[in-house]
Amino acid sequence: MVVDSVLHSTHRNTNFGKTAFTLTYRNGEGIRVSVKSDRVREERSAETSGLFEKIVVRREGNEEEQRRLSSLWKDLSFQLLEIPDEEVFDIARVVVEVPFYARIFTCVKCSVCGESVMEPRVRKSSGETVCWPVRIRSTTSSPATVSQRCIGGECKDPP
Ligand SMILES: [Zn+2]
Repeated sequence: MVVDSVLHSTHRNTNFGKTAFTLTYRNGEGIRVSVKSDRVREERSAETSGLFEKIVVRREGNEEEQRRLSSLWKDLSFQLLEIPDEEVFDIARVVVEVPFYARIFTCVKCSVCGESVMEPRVRKSSGETVCWPVRIRSTTSSPATVSQRCIGGECKDPP
């Protein structure tokens, strides 16, 4: 794909729920790539589609079925790489209005996990400055304590 090598200086991270993305330079010139979903779906086997519907859409399926879907999904990924880009993507050069630079906030340290957090995203809890994952944990069944740390988004006792 062209996108990775040509346009990387700036990106706007706005999610409209489409399987498409636009990468631009600061001057607004860029490229828009959208996935031709129908074409991609054509590559799925009946088994893959069935398992996708069951596991991903309906949130059902056992471990064996999940493993099978994972395997089929991997095969499908490699299969898609063999198709010419133009068949799988709509690719267009665009000029868009680029928003001003993102606002920069001060970073503060979470009292519990010790990781750096953008100041507007921290919460004060019992006099402590805590990150969102720690706060969520402390309001659910397993409250975080200072002896716990955030590991992969979960608060756990340090090793
Ligand atoms: Zn934290």
